[in-house]
Amino acid sequence: MRYYDKLIFELSKSGRCGYSLPEAFAQAPAVPSSLCRQSALNLPEVSETDVVRHYTNLSQMNFGVDTGFYPLGSCTMKYNPKINEEIAGMQAFQDIHPLQRCDSIQGVLEVYYEMEKALSSITGMERFTFAPCAGAHGELTGLMIMRRYHMLRGDSSRVKVIVPDSAHGTNPASAAVCGLQIVEVKSDDRGLVDVDALKPLLGPDIAGIMMTNPNTLGLFEREIKEIAGLVHGCGGLLYYDGANMNPLLGVVRPGDMGFDIMHLNLHKTFSTPHGGGGPGSGPVGVCRKLANLLPVPKVTEKDGRFSVVDGFSNHVCGDAAVPEETVGQVSGFMGNFSVILRAYTYILMLGRQNIKMAGKLATLGANYVKESLKDCYRLPIEAVCKHEFVFDGLKDDGSSTGKPGATTLDVAKRLLDFGYHAPTIYFPLLFHQAIMIEPTETESKETLDAFIDVMKKIAREAAADPDILHTAPHDAPISRPDETEAARHPVVKFQDESRII
Ligand SMILES: *Cc1c(COP(=O)(O)O)cnc(C)c1O
Repeated sequence: MRYYDKLIFELSKSGRCGYSLPEAFAQAPAVPSSLCRQSALNLPEVSETDVVRHYTNLSQMNFGVDTGFYPLGSCTMKYNPKINEEIAGMQAFQDIHPLQRCDSIQGVLEVYYEMEKALSSITGMERFTFAPCAGAHGELTGLMIMRRYHMLRGDSSRVKVIVPDSAHGTNPASAAVCGLQIVEVKSDDRGLVDVDALKPLLGPDIAGIMMTNPNTLGLFEREIKEIAGLVHGCGGLLYYDGANMNPLLGVVRPGDMGFDIMHLNLHKTFSTPHGGGGPGSGPVGVCRKLANLLPVPKVTEKDGRFSVVDGFSNHVCGDAAVPEETVGQVSGFMGNFSVILRAYTYILMLGRQNIKMAGKLATLGANYVKESLKDCYRLPIEAVCKHEFVFDGLKDDGSSTGKPGATTLDVAKRLLDFGYHAPTIYFPLLFHQAIMIEPTETESKETLDAFIDVMKKIAREAAADPDILHTAPHDAPISRPDETEAARHPVVKFQDESRII
């Protein structure tokens, strides 16, 4: 039996203990019986060695950017430099409290202020808010701004938002949460928004369009200027989903493409850890005419002193008034500061010159992997991609052997045997066997070459004997759980004697 086959509850031996205290300490002062627990706590009884091995082994079952290549498309799993952690861990930052007086946190407010300037210059937006705590939260905030913009103009009929069929799932979800109706616009056979299909959708009921550029196929929307003209012409606004802004860093700015509102995922493009569900940061940027609609609180500067405009009666720093147009408050206080701090450190460490290389290298790496593998994997759209690309399954899935062919899921599972995190699969929904690969700029050519070799080997295996893939992974603690069941009814704690999953 391997280490991970035993849960810590199964290691428990009655009476075993991980510490010993002098007798005097063990004599606990009497606790009134009304405050005492009536039934036993039922914790595992284990030695210190058991506990240390348990958690160390659990940590080794984890996969992260620090342990291996993680080509998860649409997620930008780039390396997170350790200096970011170093800075975010500084005592002076760790010990602050959101209700502290502004004059005692000038340095923190300066980080917000400088970060806003950095993001504005990178994106071409006028102002940013750091209140949203995730990309999807940023989308919702941005759409609230879009709605409010139309409402303030007395234009209450704009209740529809256009979303391309290639969009990230959060786009239509955020629009629905914001009370907007979703109108889908089709992609053409180049994988880009079909401008001819867009035109008839435009009218006085359109609040705006949400776009990702490069889109989720990793392709740059070449007609963006024309699209911006059309949408603005009908009175709508353009929302830019900048979760994956990596390839554009220092190359082109959403503000210059005609976008009015956007969000960034600091926990993707700006190298702060993600994947475990948080904390995140989805700052929202807007063009000049929407600046007063941004949520509060926000940081302002006057004569080198920083203050917060927030509208809370118990926490007023500075004298600037809250703009009447604001959409209000969208999160507690000022978002996830430690994530903002990591991203700020990342930007400063790269500097104006080097940040321009990130997008170019990410693009180069993705095209290198795509071109190296397109003989073995089906490439539905032949084009230069940006930071990521999508295959549509294997060219030869092995079904000519008489066995069922190997699917994208099988390829992903087989990759685990070779120590790689699987790419994003079955997304976007435009192809049945989608495999979405994003190498990021932080990987060396040697790493990409090794990955390419393994992907080719898997393709050869599939062609010769697809069963090798069907039964993969062969050496993982959990092989093929019922994914729907695992997502809908996860068992994340010990339940009697039953085994997990
Ligand atoms: C990741 C992602 C999002 C959502 O970001 P979260 O922080 O997970 O809410 C939105 N759009 C795109 C294109 C993304 O890749």
